[in-house]
Amino acid sequence: MLYRTFGKTGKDISLISFGGMRFPNHQDLDGSAELLLHAHSQGINYFDTAPVYCADRSEDIFGHALSQLPRESFYLSSKSGRAKGSDFRKSLERSLERLKTDRIDFFYVWHLMNPADWESRKQEGAIEAALKAKEEGLIGHLCCSSHMEGEGLAKVLKENLFEGVLLGYNALNFPYRRAAVEQAGRQGIGVVTMNPLGGGLIPQNPERFSFLKTDESDSVVSAALRFNLSHPDITTALVGFATLDEVDQAVAALDNFTPENQDYLQLVTPNIEKEFDQLCTGCGYCLPCPVDIPIPKFMDVYNQVILTHGEPDAAMNRFRMHWGLTADQAKACTLCGACEERCTQHLPIIERLKALAS
Ligand code: SF4
Ligand code: SF4
Repeated sequence: MLYRTFGKTGKDISLISFGGMRFPNHQDLDGSAELLLHAHSQGINYFDTAPVYCADRSEDIFGHALSQLPRESFYLSSKSGRAKGSDFRKSLERSLERLKTDRIDFFYVWHLMNPADWESRKQEGAIEAALKAKEEGLIGHLCCSSHMEGEGLAKVLKENLFEGVLLGYNALNFPYRRAAVEQAGRQGIGVVTMNPLGGGLIPQNPERFSFLKTDESDSVVSAALRFNLSHPDITTALVGFATLDEVDQAVAALDNFTPENQDYLQLVTPNIEKEFDQLCTGCGYCLPCPVDIPIPKFMDVYNQVILTHGEPDAAMNRFRMHWGLTADQAKACTLCGACEERCTQHLPIIERLKALAS
């Protein structure tokens, strides 16, 4: 495993890090812990969780697994939820308890949605509470996570409050996020990328993304990870592992990793299509829907419309069998708009549901 220094913190972090949002059976503490312990044995030393992941079980799993290891052998990362002021403090204390530790090495002010959201988070006292916790040693380094477009997030970083940033970055969306990565690089802020495989879209559509490969024998997963980590300002790529095999494959993909040069970026950039940032990544942040529409499933159907340049009704026919989705489910939308406000990709969900229902 190779390691990069996280911004100015002096901490060396594995190129691949562990995202704790995809445990297949989160009720199984021992089975889930095995995944973390295996990743650690393969050299992964950065473990990222959050209070809400896996029906609120992820932090418990992390605490169960990581308390079995020497504390100095890994770095722990968690997030604030959307708590404010004194609630922020309560949320942090609960995380510490569940993680069975007295400090969280990298603590993220979670999910800044847009510049207005950032302003209100500051006014609500979240940053003040976080800085106080840092002074007390409960937090090692204060960071933020965001799905904002690059320019907006770059402005947040320029305020110099954060030592690290967590953002979605992959071959589908990098033109829209790159400004923030480069700004972080200029300031010496560590960059953790989530969704390096586009929420599974890249491995599920290997033909469409074969342009990432420099060698025919290469796998598209390996090419996508190398694409991500070839950016010199990116510290580590966070992968949400669900099986021991996935850990091994990701670790093997970076065996003897050397970053691609700038010519490679010039080569792949024309293949990044304008619509790629319009794809749903399956993150689930749009839920819950008050009328229980399984929005990520419908948006995944729409991804196929984009990726195949096909017709919505043809895609719906294919997925009707697969997931039992019906046009009537999509028609139940009350147009409340809650999902669009929360969507990390800023997708026109209502319009797409209409297209799929027609
Ligand atoms: S706009 Fe429609 S799909 Fe979105 S949350 Fe409201 S009812 Fe659900
Ligand atoms: S619609 Fe948006 S928020 Fe919902 S799963 Fe897709 S990308 Fe995530």
